[in-house]
Amino acid sequence: MASNTHCNVSVNNHSIDFNFDKQHIWHPYTSMNNALPAFGVASATGCELTLHDGRKLVDGTSSWWACVHGYSHPTIIQTMQHQLNTLSHVMFGGITHQPAIELSKKLVKITSPKLTKVFLADSGSIAVEVALKMALQYWQGREQPQKQRILTVKSGYHGDTFAAMSVCDPEGGMHTMFGDSVTQHEFVSAPQTKFGQIFDPSDLDEMHATLDSKHDTIAAVIIEPILQGAGGMRFYSPEYLIGLRKLCDAFNVLLILDEIATGFGRTGKLFAYEHATSNGAVVEADILCLGKALTGGYISLAVTMCSDEVAQGISDSPAGVFMHGPTFMGNPLACSAACASLALLANNEWQQQVIDIEIQLKAELEEVIHYPEVKDVRVLGAIGVIEMNSTVNTAQLQQEFVDLGVWIRPFSNLIYIMPPYIISKKQLSQLTNAMKKVAKNTLYSNQSAAFISHG
Ligand SMILES: *Cc1c(COP(=O)(O)O)cnc(C)c1O
Repeated sequence: MASNTHCNVSVNNHSIDFNFDKQHIWHPYTSMNNALPAFGVASATGCELTLHDGRKLVDGTSSWWACVHGYSHPTIIQTMQHQLNTLSHVMFGGITHQPAIELSKKLVKITSPKLTKVFLADSGSIAVEVALKMALQYWQGREQPQKQRILTVKSGYHGDTFAAMSVCDPEGGMHTMFGDSVTQHEFVSAPQTKFGQIFDPSDLDEMHATLDSKHDTIAAVIIEPILQGAGGMRFYSPEYLIGLRKLCDAFNVLLILDEIATGFGRTGKLFAYEHATSNGAVVEADILCLGKALTGGYISLAVTMCSDEVAQGISDSPAGVFMHGPTFMGNPLACSAACASLALLANNEWQQQVIDIEIQLKAELEEVIHYPEVKDVRVLGAIGVIEMNSTVNTAQLQQEFVDLGVWIRPFSNLIYIMPPYIISKKQLSQLTNAMKKVAKNTLYSNQSAAFISHG
């Protein structure tokens, strides 16, 4: 509350130029011809967005997984304000600073033991680019430069830049659109055994066969651990990851885990790979990507971590150095936000909060499975998903949700939420009630559409 007192007044007194926005500003995945409506947000605190016209919406998105502590958190803002007054940015080439060192120390401490080296990237997609480049350079340093292919599973999502796109789901993603400009990599079926079910080892057969026949050319496997996010919100068995790690070891292939969506508590573990333990040890990545909630959602930052072995291989490569270094690498302001967010997570209040959210989501969404247009309902940690039988009209549903006083952004056939961990029971019920109402009504809009199309 204290943080934005000085800007509230001026923002609310000016009208937003929606027309300019519509004509000149790209929003994610939009057209300039047929812009979908955008809602003007004036401010946000806790779990609530305040629209320009004064309406308040309970946030069900954490602004795409990021804002886990809620908006305008006083300690994150104070830390950032202090950093802003001290050093908001300085180049990272030949220079270092305390926020980068403190953040990297924290990350090395909380991630699995093998991950000791930290590359500070500017966004999730860049963290994935960096991970893929690391894998290729590693094999150059190990005198196997022919290992240049990446192997992954279908239904994955790893970002929007070219290398990241090349390992996104080949059908749902952007492969066909950009054709030959997208590097052709290897794909196998997505993990089939759902989280919580008894693992069917044949899930790994295709992965095994592909590694067996092509490992000479494969540098790494990349996968989102436990939850395939933007590729379909699928929760899969941790046993799959355990088996995959063994296969990667057996066939001399690196394992890249993309925890950009799942990291920092969302699935009930600090990192989703912690669900996958065998003989008391967690499955360890050779390379790990983190982003989204890294700064608690306050500013863009991502990281790619790797093992000593990967770092050594890169150093032994002909280049001798790792070939990446963005202008805003290690931005001190972003690092300070991440340090503040990690300090909040270190209180461990998130654990009980996520458990409570999971219990409430399961109880309140259970009945939805009986709705005629609903295909599946699933909950893991602070994530609740309703999968519909067919693709929903995002713009129409978005408006319905706003009218119901909540911010939920469906995509494809999925109506899902991943609220800030600090959400109250009452606010969470507002979200689930809105989801239920909309999931029920969707029946009627689909039916009438069918009527029209059948003439
Ligand atoms: C969001 C996401 C990315 C891309 O991150 P950006 O910050 O949007 O570039 C990559 N991988 C996964 C799993 C993600 O959820």
